[in-house]
Amino acid sequence: MPSVRRSLTDAQRREFHDALEARRQEVLARQGRLDASLSDAREARSDGQADDEHDPEGPTMAATWSQLTGMHDDLEVEMTEVEHALSRIEAGTFGLCQRCGKPIGVARLRARPYAELCIDCARAAEAH
Ligand SMILES: [Zn+2]
Repeated sequence: MPSVRRSLTDAQRREFHDALEARRQEVLARQGRLDASLSDAREARSDGQADDEHDPEGPTMAATWSQLTGMHDDLEVEMTEVEHALSRIEAGTFGLCQRCGKPIGVARLRARPYAELCIDCARAAEAH
């Protein structure tokens, strides 16, 4: 009999913890591969291929570089979201909307375990 209001059962909390932990490992692995690509690109760049940028044909080094750094930034954001979600599980606030405090809903959490807002608040946030 829980003394605090909970939106999830213990089994669900474990399920989401495992899903988030798996996600964290996956992001870490992707970051490792991306770091390798970034250092390759950095080497190629300092290899005197600066003229690439003036070549209208094919992908340029600059485009590859900005794509890689964009992916790098996305992974950082994802890692932060996953880590915040894991700490909300620790704190017992996981599954509650960070804005209105209502339960986010298990279906939404299954699709997006690091969701911080309920569907209503997420829609309202997107509308602005
Ligand atoms: Zn909400």
